[in-house]
Amino acid sequence: MWTIRKCQNTNHCAYDNCTEELQNACGGAFCTEHEIAYGTKCCIRTCHNERVARTLACAGHQGAWKKYKQDHSHAAYSGVRRLLQRIEENLPWQQRTTQPAARAHDNHEDDDDPPPRAHFFGSSKFYCVETVCAPCGVVIAWTKFNKSESPTHILNFLQSIFPTRESRLSYVCIDKACRVLRTAIANGTWRTVWRDTTRFIVDAYHYRNHRLTDFLCRKWCNPAPLNGSAPNLVRIAYDKNGRPYLQRAYNTQACEQLNAWLGGFESILKQMKIGNFDWFLHAMLFYHTQQVIAKQRNQEKVEQIQQDEEEEDEEEEKGPVRHWHTVDENDEDDD
Ligand SMILES: [Zn+2]
Ligand SMILES: [Zn+2]
Ligand SMILES: [Zn+2]
Repeated sequence: MWTIRKCQNTNHCAYDNCTEELQNACGGAFCTEHEIAYGTKCCIRTCHNERVARTLACAGHQGAWKKYKQDHSHAAYSGVRRLLQRIEENLPWQQRTTQPAARAHDNHEDDDDPPPRAHFFGSSKFYCVETVCAPCGVVIAWTKFNKSESPTHILNFLQSIFPTRESRLSYVCIDKACRVLRTAIANGTWRTVWRDTTRFIVDAYHYRNHRLTDFLCRKWCNPAPLNGSAPNLVRIAYDKNGRPYLQRAYNTQACEQLNAWLGGFESILKQMKIGNFDWFLHAMLFYHTQQVIAKQRNQEKVEQIQQDEEEEDEEEEKGPVRHWHTVDENDEDDD
């Protein structure tokens, strides 16, 4: 089972569907190619006039340019405010819930690509980074989504990571699994790609905000169905009085936890050029994965030692088998 979630972003060329590196990372809007093509033209999409000196618009569009500059300084201010809030969120003495922000089931605002921009005054931003990780925290893949986190983008991304039937896993856990499932049904990939191998389930935290009356969501996307339909997702655990109860068998929050960790690097990442951003993020995720695997190895060792000790205890309880006699005898033989 994999969980998939978004975080962080960086700037790129403003031109339609171009995600190239900015030629000028400090305030430029275009990549080198589009800077050459449009560097002296008015930045209003539909306008082909030459710019007025020291502005980004022609004489007729100076009003739009001035308004952009005003809005932009406000945006910069609120960006600073957001950043401060973000840092405050992580202060240890503040009561900070580790839960991700609730996203309502009906909130489809990031499901569609936004309409094309009316102007190219400033650079564009990637909408988000998506990470796919295993419940243990090992990162499987990541990518940047340009315009939105639409179910179609998610399905394409998943298909690129799991191209063959054999590579696909039983459960993919996403906060908007039901919308991904609906999109897959609508575009036909449910039948041709996913149906026989994979279920899309909502992660446990976001599931609480999904509508009780959404039949498709309740039937197909429940992270821990108690009706026995997905025994791999639910296991029987025992409380301290030995009474059995049903428990989720997987950590569906692995990606949220990863994002919380990556959140600490946000202020560094958001100032990076695309190449550095990609390299840095990849290195951090690689490092994180190494750490997770090392922890797992240690855990396995501890469990092995505990198991060995338990077995020894059991044998001692059973009776007079004493290993050290055997060892001593062998040693004597060797000598
Ligand atoms: Zn470009
Ligand atoms: Zn113009
Ligand atoms: Zn739902």
